[in-house]
Amino acid sequence: MGTISAIPAFEDNYIWAWRRGAKALIVDPGDAAPVLAWLQSEELSLNSILLTHHHPDHIGGVTELVQQTGACVYGHAGDRHRLPALDVALTEGDRIEVLGGDFQVLVTPGHTLGHICYHGAGLLFCGDTLFSAGCGRMFEGSPAQYLHSLQTLAALPGDPAVCCAHEYTLVNLAFAAQLSPTDAELAGELERVQALRAAGAISLPSRLSWERRYNPFLRCHDAALAAALDSSGADPISVFAAMRKARNHFRLH
Ligand SMILES: [Zn+2]
Repeated sequence: MGTISAIPAFEDNYIWAWRRGAKALIVDPGDAAPVLAWLQSEELSLNSILLTHHHPDHIGGVTELVQQTGACVYGHAGDRHRLPALDVALTEGDRIEVLGGDFQVLVTPGHTLGHICYHGAGLLFCGDTLFSAGCGRMFEGSPAQYLHSLQTLAALPGDPAVCCAHEYTLVNLAFAAQLSPTDAELAGELERVQALRAAGAISLPSRLSWERRYNPFLRCHDAALAAALDSSGADPISVFAAMRKARNHFRLH
């Protein structure tokens, strides 16, 4: 049921769109123009806007889209002071029905303290909390909070499509491969994504089962990863902190 699409925005953002019939919901519209163009070309009306967190590249287009379409805006009640006006203010565990899809709200502090994710209809809208083969920068939360949030996502039932908000898969996989240089399957995934990106293709959505296998931030209990981060014997929270710090300094050559 439904069809998922990624609308590119800015340098490397994706505004996710899920359509059913002639209506669509979108997630984190940082810019209104590409969404309005997409709605027009696909002959769809905008029904709802789901927000994951307050950063400008996720909310910048909301006001104009609401003015033009009257779409219903969902976001975290705890962050309403720094989000556009919400029609529906959400808290942990809430369930919302949008376009016939049943979505569960998960509060996932780490990238920001008020970040939420939406899980339902075989989809996971995870904003800047979880990226393919990586995770967001830890701007507001603690390592313990962020790791707990990632573990919550990793433990979700089923195998939802992971709809994250940035095209960071290639650099994340290169970082993962540096930590696990003998993992031949991981090296194969890096080659696959290199080819996709060289062809200008999107690397997303991924699958949660794929993230459980290849995303190093979901494997902080792994002794070999701890060793690669000079953290042998450390607890998973300390391994996460070391991994996030190392990732901050990692660049593609
Ligand atoms: Zn962000």
